[in-house]
Amino acid sequence: MASPSTIVVTGSNRGIGQGIINLFANTQHPQPLHIYATSRGGVDLKIQAKPPNEIRYAKLDVSDKSSITSFLKTALNDSGKIDVLINNAGINNNNNETPDAAEQVINVNYHGTKQMCQLFLSEGKMSSTPNARIVNVSSTASSLSNYPSATASRFRSATSISDVDALAQEYINSVKTSSQESAGFGAPPKSYQVSKALMNALTVVLARENKGVLVNCCCPGWVDSDMGNQIGRPPKTLEEGARIPVRLGVGQLGKGGDGDGGLTQETEPVTGRYYGNDGVTDRGWGRAREW
Ligand code: NDP
Repeated sequence: MASPSTIVVTGSNRGIGQGIINLFANTQHPQPLHIYATSRGGVDLKIQAKPPNEIRYAKLDVSDKSSITSFLKTALNDSGKIDVLINNAGINNNNNETPDAAEQVINVNYHGTKQMCQLFLSEGKMSSTPNARIVNVSSTASSLSNYPSATASRFRSATSISDVDALAQEYINSVKTSSQESAGFGAPPKSYQVSKALMNALTVVLARENKGVLVNCCCPGWVDSDMGNQIGRPPKTLEEGARIPVRLGVGQLGKGGDGDGGLTQETEPVTGRYYGNDGVTDRGWGRAREW
């Protein structure tokens, strides 16, 4: 039998993360999928994986460095390597955006995701694991068309993590001085949108810096989770929302995967791209597009 592929998913106790675990668990892939369903509480979802796939439950808080390193130690000890990381965990405080709440969103969605990527690449050895992939679950809210062109071009031209960190800090400073609009970030509330644009810029930088790893990001669409319900009645189920992240984790990244995800196909080495469907209500497997 082929050697297993070890997959780690964050924020999998509910919402789209739970949908991602369900879809991986039922995917018949050429390699057995060993799935770590992680969450802050280490919740056991009691999902039955279709053999030879397996699920393990573990604690992982993406904003706590010691939680990440302790998870990595256990996972490497048990599995030897990590092939796929899906950074799904996220928060949205747009409905009640105080300065503290905005900072919390940047901390979890941007700094938390960055810390996960950096520690998984280094201590988790993903930077030297053949065919490793990282998937950052972003949002259509990341679109740079929401900003003045000077701000958009700064997101687009970031060439290092310190460039992205500087943008994050400028945004936080503007929130603290109530000057988001004059600073080029648009009228509040925008912390969720800014956090996801930072995540996309991070994805591009990490893809350039880690040539052996395929690093991509995506919008899952408008999905029936707690977060999705903050803005109305979402049309997509959790498993429909899981399709694009799962494709980016184990499927065909080239155009051949646009129709059905290509979950059993060899992939083209696409990296540093943002994937989504044409509209947030569409149920497809996404395609690479501008953000
Ligand atoms: P939910 O609010 O339903 O779930 C969020 C998940 O993230 C929960 O499992 C939560 O865990 C976890 N989480 C939050 N903070 C942390 C942390 N510090 N460490 C670990 N886990 C954490 O959101 P969705 O399922 O809808 O969203 C999943 C992803 O999809 C997010 O990144 C979101 O931005 C993105 N997205 C969602 C859309 C939608 O329509 N739903 C649309 C576009 C993007 P806990 O239970 O412990 O709080």
